[in-house]
Amino acid sequence: MEKKRKKANPFTMENVQRRCSENQAKIASVKNHFHALRDTCLSDFLHVGLDEEEAIVLLATKLTTNGVVALRNAVCFVPNNIMSQPRGCAVGLRRTALIHQVLSKSQPLPFATMTKKDLDSYLTFFESHCRQFIASNSLNKEHIFGAFQKASGGLLASMFLSPPVNSCLSCDGGLTMHNSPSSARLYGMSGPVAVSKVTLECKHCDIKYGITKYSSKDGSRYYPKHVADNITVVEVTNCTYMHVDLYMWIPSLSNHSWVSFSGFSETYNEVYHKEIEVYRSK
Ligand SMILES: [Zn+2]
Repeated sequence: MEKKRKKANPFTMENVQRRCSENQAKIASVKNHFHALRDTCLSDFLHVGLDEEEAIVLLATKLTTNGVVALRNAVCFVPNNIMSQPRGCAVGLRRTALIHQVLSKSQPLPFATMTKKDLDSYLTFFESHCRQFIASNSLNKEHIFGAFQKASGGLLASMFLSPPVNSCLSCDGGLTMHNSPSSARLYGMSGPVAVSKVTLECKHCDIKYGITKYSSKDGSRYYPKHVADNITVVEVTNCTYMHVDLYMWIPSLSNHSWVSFSGFSETYNEVYHKEIEVYRSK
């Protein structure tokens, strides 16, 4: 049976011009949509049922793709339990302010000119609509810190260490910052880095939450296994930490290659002598 052929428009100057006009109209329409997206106020979309892909496209048109990636890294880099104002501490330590500091130093456009209030709107929208995208970040905090350090020309002072809990293990209530962040150092697979260490507390139960342990009036104890599984550092002293990726090498080398702890330390200092010099100079 003979197939019906679609009737082609004859090749005339009028038809070519009409087709060109149609294409230009489509392109103009798409561009208008992008302009409309850029001019959109994010707060209007906070409670609208956008799916994750739509939310990412909306953010990318406003922040650029690099901006969205930088926002994801910053959200993963600054722990989400640094929310409350520490007692007696200067203003400006809230999480949005820390993220603003990180982004404006390492990703000048579009964040350097953005107010903290605007960034807070982006964070609220991003963290409520793009959870899978945020969770799919394969970089750990040390890698993110390295990337931000490189992008900022070494201006970023330190990364953050905070307790592995967002609420009280006893009453499930909210936690507040116990003290101002303190300085510590973290030894990892890329050399030592400076860290700002945050501790939290439940005022209701009088429990203090540290990086690897929590304490009450009955004494201190390690976190239960389901919480401890999320801890990626070993506490050497209260201001010295070692990433588990590095820590794992020490007993293994001692068992199989007769490398002593002091021998491993000397090797580490030799391999990372440049990073150690950079760390010392700060
Ligand atoms: Zn509590």
